Amino acid sequence: MKIITPHYILMRDRVSTNLSIAFDKTIEKIAPLDELIEMYPDAQRTTLRENSLLMPGLINAHVHIEFSANKTELSYGDFMSWLYSVIENREELIGGCNIECMKNACDMMLENGITTFGTISSHGMDLDACVSAKQNVVYFNEVIGSQATMADALYADFLSRLDASKSVKREGFYPAVAIHSPYSVHPVLIKKALKIVKDEKLKITAHFMESQAERDWLDNSNGEFKEFFHKLVKQESNVSSAKEFLELFNESETLLTHVVHANEEELNTVAKAKHTVIHCPISNRLLGNPTLNIKELNDKNIRWIVATDGLSSNYKLDLFEEMKMSLFMHSDAPLLKFAQALLDGVTIHAAQALGLNTGEIAEGKNADMIVLDLDKEPTQELAIHLILHRYNISKVYINGTLTKETNESH
Ligand SMILES: [Zn+2]
Repeated sequence: MKIITPHYILMRDRVSTNLSIAFDKTIEKIAPLDELIEMYPDAQRTTLRENSLLMPGLINAHVHIEFSANKTELSYGDFMSWLYSVIENREELIGGCNIECMKNACDMMLENGITTFGTISSHGMDLDACVSAKQNVVYFNEVIGSQATMADALYADFLSRLDASKSVKREGFYPAVAIHSPYSVHPVLIKKALKIVKDEKLKITAHFMESQAERDWLDNSNGEFKEFFHKLVKQESNVSSAKEFLELFNESETLLTHVVHANEEELNTVAKAKHTVIHCPISNRLLGNPTLNIKELNDKNIRWIVATDGLSSNYKLDLFEEMKMSLFMHSDAPLLKFAQALLDGVTIHAAQALGLNTGEIAEGKNADMIVLDLDKEPTQELAIHLILHRYNISKVYINGTLTKETNESH
């Protein structure tokens, strides 16, 4: 057992002072220090500096570790131009990211206080890097392929990747399933993958309604995807409409990424099925896609969380940066309330969406915790300042283990 005494603790409803935390892999007890010492006299004790704030570790539910090589190769500003540049640079993007490159991406997240991430694995090449990552990992094996004739081969490939991830035996590693998108996956494949999701109670995620091209293609097999699919695979129409696609997920609570072009009817379906929307503000901005309509999601009681997407559409993997960009992009949202919602979106709400017992400093939760060095006593507006100031992260605990320790940056 260990006991940590920070100056402040960020709880869900308040900032507490004068409390300590006794923890092992999970948070056992939160109480005044003398009480904890009495309960656990042999515990190893740590007292943190003045103005230290202990808060939940951050959760990045959507990243693509395999695509971490990009710095400046890809074309930004327009979704289709970006997609063509991804295809054109495929070899460099994939070949250019060896295990070292992928480990660096995991370490970058750790530096930024991310204690859990969900990665979309297209090829299974990131498995070793994710197994050796210090964080909790939800490993989403991706299904992709719109041609019925290829379905069996693609499904077999998916199954072998899924099996490889299921054979990993380490604490905090969760095999899961990703469906690439409604435009790129044949319904036959989706149904087969969803059967596994249900039978084995796995988490499921999908990209949904990211671009105008996707909207046009799903609505009437037209728009910029027409030429794309014609050239690429001689495909002349979509494999399902958005409605048909969403209906497949009605019984599986799904994490849907982007959702910036969804219409009212689709959002009603999302609400009814209790799906979660993943907001990737920087990725959307860089690829020329609209800003997510968060007010509409709130009105419909749809849970939304915040993630970085991969380095193929971002310049860093940092949820503090992501929250800051979001805070400024949603300039109509009430500042403090929105800042608090953003923090929930990288902690407790992300944990709930991923079905993990973390994301909150509370008894019984996994001890995934970070320590920030504030410069003075927090005010009522702490949420805003946590996002604006990017305080030094001096300690990172994952499942109770001190995983990272840095010096104060003063
Ligand atoms: Zn993505």
